[in-house]
Amino acid sequence: MLKIGSIRFQARCNRHPMYNPEDGRGAIRGGCPKCELLHEIHLAHVKLVDLMRKTKNDTPKAAAAKAGASVDPRQTALF
Ligand SMILES: [Zn+2]
Repeated sequence: MLKIGSIRFQARCNRHPMYNPEDGRGAIRGGCPKCELLHEIHLAHVKLVDLMRKTKNDTPKAAAAKAGASVDPRQTALF
């Protein structure tokens, strides 16, 4: 089992406080190493969230729901 606690992280470049890593590498001015780091952290975060979503969607319950193995729609009541 993998357990990851919640992480809250905020950082900005002192020289380029308006740089938004979501704007991509092309928005980095003068090859600023701090902005590069912020962009790499952003990419790693996006990848981490994507991997976590894939793992969540890979549970047996989710797989059964995806395969349509849910309750028979013709069954209207439990006996
Ligand atoms: Zn910068």
